[in-house]
Amino acid sequence: MKSIDTRIPSIVSVPSTLLLVVVVGFPCLVHAAPDDDLMEYHIDIGERLRQLTVKLCFGRASVPATLIVPEPLAKHIEDLSATFTDGVTKKLQIDDHTIELGRSQIQCVHYTVQIPDGQGKDWRSGRIEHNGAMTVALERILVRPNAPRRWRRTRLSFSTAPGVRVSAPGAMLPATGVRKSFELLDRPPAWAGSVAFGTLTQSLIAAGKAQIRLSIVGRSDPATTAVLHTWITTGVAAITTLYGHFPVSDLQILVFPLGRNSDPVPWGEVVRGGGDAVHLYVDGTRSLAELNDNWVLTHELSHLFHPYIAAPDSWLPEGIASYYQNVLRARAGLIDAATAWEKLDAGFKRGLAQFASDRTLAVDTRAMMRQRQYMRVYWSGA
Ligand SMILES: [Zn+2]
Repeated sequence: MKSIDTRIPSIVSVPSTLLLVVVVGFPCLVHAAPDDDLMEYHIDIGERLRQLTVKLCFGRASVPATLIVPEPLAKHIEDLSATFTDGVTKKLQIDDHTIELGRSQIQCVHYTVQIPDGQGKDWRSGRIEHNGAMTVALERILVRPNAPRRWRRTRLSFSTAPGVRVSAPGAMLPATGVRKSFELLDRPPAWAGSVAFGTLTQSLIAAGKAQIRLSIVGRSDPATTAVLHTWITTGVAAITTLYGHFPVSDLQILVFPLGRNSDPVPWGEVVRGGGDAVHLYVDGTRSLAELNDNWVLTHELSHLFHPYIAAPDSWLPEGIASYYQNVLRARAGLIDAATAWEKLDAGFKRGLAQFASDRTLAVDTRAMMRQRQYMRVYWSGA
């Protein structure tokens, strides 16, 4: 297992007095001016995990006229202020989820985010507290420029208390000092994405040039961690059998080990905000054989073969993932060929049973929830 932390230079382990000398001696390393078109969120995470201190700094060409405070963040943002290029600091006001910046010489916006209490069963709410780690949606952390079309040239740069690790979507940049930085990929800011921080067991999964960053979220024992790491590695290898390489350049994988569950992998999802990510909720008591026998990991990773496709057209992405979850597991030797054919045949029959010649797949997909007929889209039985 290759630990991500091996990428952090040895400056982390030098005595704090020496670190202070380095910081004082070369202040330009710490306060380097951002690129002209870059927006950089400096996010400090304390030991308690419940308060984030955010400093959003703009390059000369990236200062927006207004900032938007997304609804989930609006109730939990505090201490909002701005610093200007002439050194002046001013408090800022939020008016109807909007912050007017006014002066174009603005340099940085500062605020704190309080993470409210909440035990973690609300998988889809954008926040989960799980065994010493938090997973928080981007929209609960980031104010954003008014109506930007994309996260273009946007960085998240984290500093954390000792022992606190962090995972974010996008491309992980080489570490600078103790900060860990990610460049968000060019995606609409409204798309869901999450940052996880706290107790994470992290590793890199080798797959050609792709950077696949696995974080097992929350405390877990070494035996469980080893099983989950091998399971993910096996799934990634199965996916690369299709084209000979992994389908995306950067992937954030968050695995949440749960207690005993009747289903080995009760929930999996792909989210695309700020980059590509797969979230998997797993019965942490299962053996490697039981997990390898399950289809969810291969299904979710197969969604990376296509771009984001909106729900009204989900017959297409679900068809792709339902097909490859069987084909690629057979190619990788996780199930035998006859079993894969049987599963495909059974799935096609389930779909056919709900087929009517006067309805297209698109019509059936849009009526799926209302009619409670899912097998034309989710014909694998998912
Ligand atoms: Zn799917």
